[in-house]
Amino acid sequence: MSKSTTRALGPVVIVGGGNAGVSIAARLRRRGVADITIIEPRHQHVYAPLQSHIAGGVADRREVVRSQASVTPRGVTWLPERVATVHPDENSVELSSGGRIGYAQLIIAAGIEQRWDAIPGLEEAAADASVVSNYTLELAEQASAALRNLDSGTVVFTQAAEPASCAGVAQKPMYLACDRWRKLGLLDGIRVVFISPERAPFHIRAVADELSRTLDAYGIETHFGAQIAEVRSDASELDVVVDGRTTTIAYDVLHATPPQAAAEWIAESGLGGDDGFVDVDPGTLRHRRWDNVWALGDVASLTRIRSGGAIRKQAKIIVDSLTRPGRQDRYDGYSETPFTVTRRTAVFAEFDRRGRLQPSIPFWRTLYRERRFTYLMDRRVLPWVYWNLILKGRA
Ligand SMILES: Cc1cc2nc3c(=O)[nH]c(=O)nc-3n(C[C@H](O)[C@H](O)[C@H](O)COP(=O)(O)OP(=O)(O)OC[C@H]3O[C@@H](n4cnc5c(N)ncnc54)[C@H](O)[C@@H]3O)c2cc1C
Repeated sequence: MSKSTTRALGPVVIVGGGNAGVSIAARLRRRGVADITIIEPRHQHVYAPLQSHIAGGVADRREVVRSQASVTPRGVTWLPERVATVHPDENSVELSSGGRIGYAQLIIAAGIEQRWDAIPGLEEAAADASVVSNYTLELAEQASAALRNLDSGTVVFTQAAEPASCAGVAQKPMYLACDRWRKLGLLDGIRVVFISPERAPFHIRAVADELSRTLDAYGIETHFGAQIAEVRSDASELDVVVDGRTTTIAYDVLHATPPQAAAEWIAESGLGGDDGFVDVDPGTLRHRRWDNVWALGDVASLTRIRSGGAIRKQAKIIVDSLTRPGRQDRYDGYSETPFTVTRRTAVFAEFDRRGRLQPSIPFWRTLYRERRFTYLMDRRVLPWVYWNLILKGRA
């Protein structure tokens, strides 16, 4: 590609400097694109997948957090602001601080919002030391302590309903904790309850069978097709509804996941689809109404399961479209969900939009099965790849 073609892109504005925003900015820089701005209010960048390992007691904060400045690619401007809305007919974004920024190309990578207030009582309960979660860094650290200190009683793990960010990872700290309790001889004295809105531990049968084996092996009590109606932290109990019937469960520790949804400014700016997420074509990732607006990552409904693994493929599609016009690769919905089923093995599911297994190592159809190799990938290799290759636009 010639330099003049790259310059012709004009100002590129990226909303959100998380996994998707930084990795696509880095890829664009590597293609010689100039004038890129990331708008990101947070000063700390977090590698969310390892929060599950923190909650499960096998990782700590130092592996997960870096400053936003340090992950912003060289040559890219980072604006520590929040976008309030977008004016797509005027090619500008409006900041919460009141300013406006014009763009030639807009890439929305603002993630998904956590709505702790969407379940009555949950937000208040999260202030208690006994209510923890792998979905925020602070609560993941509290989870590590709460699960480590538990040697009897009831612990409840919940999985969020779709839409969610990699919903299945709610199971990771549960299995990690169970493995530890089993090794210490404590598991028989702990009632472990798993509550999920899904009908099975995963939507692909082969993977669900692997996980069902794990659930059985640990003796975990499961409630599938379940909604949490209310959490009452003063009584340390929650109401669970399955097929219209409500059951109250008392807990000593509640490992909760928040309901999740699209940010309201997406719909308010006219960019949202029926589900409130950015309305892009799931194959090209280009907005259905505005040609110069794109979205990737958790902010759009592009895959069956939102994941960081999916973003690797999505970023490449957008960057190729912007810098190599004429290339028409389409995103097939590839995504992944890793489950650490013990402290040394994982079930690593990779799949496409239609729920067909799609292993990264071609032809290894059974890669998803419980393995030591995929645990090492998830715990050791992928974090290194994230900081050193993905955020640098090299993978
Ligand atoms: C606990 C947990 C474990 C996970 N485990 C895995 C895993 O094992 N494997 C895997 O592949 N995936 C996993 N995921 C999913 C993966 O982390 C996400 O899919 C990925 O981080 C999404 O990247 P993103 O850039 O779309 O969103 P984010 O990384 O959330 O980044 C969005 C950014 O946008 C910013 N932002 C939001 N609103 C605005 C605004 N109005 N203006 C400007 N900026 C804004 C936010 O501050 C944020 O930094 C996990 C997720 C969680 C929560």
